Amino acid sequence: MLITHDTRCALDTVVDLVNTAPEDEPASDGLPDVAALGDFVRNHEISDVGTLSEFDLSAVRKIRGRFASVFAAPDARTAAGLINELVAAAGTTPRLTDHDGYDWHVHYFAPGASVADHLAADCGMALAFFVVAGEQERLRRCEAPDCRRAFVDLSRNRSRRYCDSRTCGNRLHVAAYRARRKEAAG
Ligand SMILES: [Zn+2]
Ligand SMILES: [Zn+2]
Repeated sequence: MLITHDTRCALDTVVDLVNTAPEDEPASDGLPDVAALGDFVRNHEISDVGTLSEFDLSAVRKIRGRFASVFAAPDARTAAGLINELVAAAGTTPRLTDHDGYDWHVHYFAPGASVADHLAADCGMALAFFVVAGEQERLRRCEAPDCRRAFVDLSRNRSRRYCDSRTCGNRLHVAAYRARRKEAAG
């Protein structure tokens, strides 16, 4: 499937957003305060965001939970319903843009949208393309039992089971190594 630069950025953003809320440890929220949300916005180059407030923080946390459900959706129909709700609530204004030297692409967030609505519209549409392409199952959660981070599997044959965090990558290598040893030992 063709993934444009902007879709790729939106995917990275939504994955990072979902992963600021670890499933097992609600205490270690990656978006603890407005300053952290400001860092998130800057790091992901989210454009046209005004002054952030506590209201923005709670709104972003709310849509983060809804995005997490999309990554946990068992099938395309469930994912589609969740994405429709997210995008509808955000109120979108699709428009073509070639800002900052990028090729023509579509922005979905309405002018003056809050950061939560911006994320819901543009990240929601990025995820929508996967449903349209019949690729919803690429939106995954890591299968390592104590990880469960969200990721998008962009491998050719949809074979990725673990996120690319160092821990999960290493665990995979160790498991493969042990299996080989066991086999060799007969
Ligand atoms: Zn753009
Ligand atoms: Zn993982």
